[in-house]
Amino acid sequence: MNDYNLIVIGAGPAGTAAAVRASQLGAKVLLIEKSSFGGTCLNWGCIPTKFLWEACNTVSKIKKSVSYAITAEMKEHSFALLIEKKNKNVELLSKGVRQLLASYNIELIEGSAAFSSAKTVEVKRSNGQTENYQAEKIIIAAGSVPSAIPGYQFDHIKFIDSTDALNLTELPKSLLVVGGGAIGVEFASIFSALGAQVHLVEKQNQLLPGEDSELAEEVKKGLLRQGIKVETGVSSFEEPAKTNDKILIATGRKSNTASLALEKTGVKYGPKGIEVNEFLETSVEGIFAAGDVDGRSFLAYTAHAEGVLAAENALGTKKAITYSTIPKAVFSVPPAASVGIVNGDKTEGMITGKFDLAANSRAFIEGERRGWVKITAEKSTGVITGGQILGAGAEELISIIALAVKQNISLHQMSREIFFHPSISEAIHSACEAALGKCVDLPRFKNRS
Ligand SMILES: Cc1cc2nc3c(=O)[nH]c(=O)nc-3n(C[C@H](O)[C@H](O)[C@H](O)COP(=O)(O)OP(=O)(O)OC[C@H]3O[C@@H](n4cnc5c(N)ncnc54)[C@H](O)[C@@H]3O)c2cc1C
Repeated sequence: MNDYNLIVIGAGPAGTAAAVRASQLGAKVLLIEKSSFGGTCLNWGCIPTKFLWEACNTVSKIKKSVSYAITAEMKEHSFALLIEKKNKNVELLSKGVRQLLASYNIELIEGSAAFSSAKTVEVKRSNGQTENYQAEKIIIAAGSVPSAIPGYQFDHIKFIDSTDALNLTELPKSLLVVGGGAIGVEFASIFSALGAQVHLVEKQNQLLPGEDSELAEEVKKGLLRQGIKVETGVSSFEEPAKTNDKILIATGRKSNTASLALEKTGVKYGPKGIEVNEFLETSVEGIFAAGDVDGRSFLAYTAHAEGVLAAENALGTKKAITYSTIPKAVFSVPPAASVGIVNGDKTEGMITGKFDLAANSRAFIEGERRGWVKITAEKSTGVITGGQILGAGAEELISIIALAVKQNISLHQMSREIFFHPSISEAIHSACEAALGKCVDLPRFKNRS
């Protein structure tokens, strides 16, 4: 039996961040991973999807090159080669994660971890060998797995999940995407841009359920412009399932608790994940959970933040995360991002300001004029409560609004800031001015009075 200050189960964003922070704080750390270092995010999620999205974006840039008097020739591209390149990049990044962990002297074990008691973990190696490890504290960061729909089990050939979709070696002629959340929208957009005929169905009446309805509508329009068939409020997809080559079920993910033997610990968990308090401690003292496995967010950067926090709390502090100011983004065409309050323009006590990227000089230069920035603030105080961005770079710029929301910055303060010119971020400044009815870059009739 080997003793550690901390054992971390799972080397995704949550587990990796937890292990590094714990080591920085002087703990002796063991990290156990049963599959690939970097977890879902790096191997089967954020990174591979954005790699493919960037490939599609590059094609669109090549097509636009004529606007800059450049003649670029588009040769036939190979889907199989693109997937190979994606795999190489993922491999490189995964190696980088191992190197990062090794630089902190974190002990790494490849194998599947299961609890044998609240303080002991049994690791089963791929050769069947088992070993037991003991620690004062344990962080469960086992992530999540795709969830199926009742009546439609994954056969991983026709009915596929997001991991299967990222490992196809041949582009399907037609693809039915079931689920219009961020993952469904991204796959629909990518596969359509690569040449597949795509049909997207969503059960709710809008794409990106829960998101600002104006933003969701723009995302839908973007998909339609790409030539994707989009249907919302759909209760059955039996008919299109018969006619499409592949059916990608992207209706959500579930906490990955199956192989952990949690019953041996007393840790409470349910279909929504492992239950944790605000300090990410489970119902059993000394056992923490971070990332997708606690079912709170299903986002890599939240998982990362929770990993850091769980490690700090496991080693003595008591800190909590504010979830309401975490931004979200979807890589549609163009991308869309959001933070804080949604539908501010329809919410009592709020004022909004909007600025179109068509009037932003940098967007004009980049040939990316489709989009806008919408800012919402409290009418009485002017304190910024949320915002949405549609357009190139939305996922980068949304963090500026997130910071403003988190720090209770007001429209007045923001409109006194001086943003770099020419930049798309200026549109945030202009939207704040517009909310105050005094945007000097908008004609009088477009300013709120
Ligand atoms: C297609 C797709 C696209 C996405 N895009 C984005 C995006 O753009 N931005 C974003 O923020 N989020 C994105 N996500 C979500 C993001 O990937 C997850 O939120 C994030 O990976 C969660 O991190 P985690 O550390 O909690 O879990 P994971 O990344 O799932 O890592 C958990 C790790 O634990 C290991 N493990 C599980 N059980 C055991 C065990 N018993 N023993 C040992 N090891 C174990 C697993 O093998 C895995 O490596 C995407 C997800 C998908 C599927």
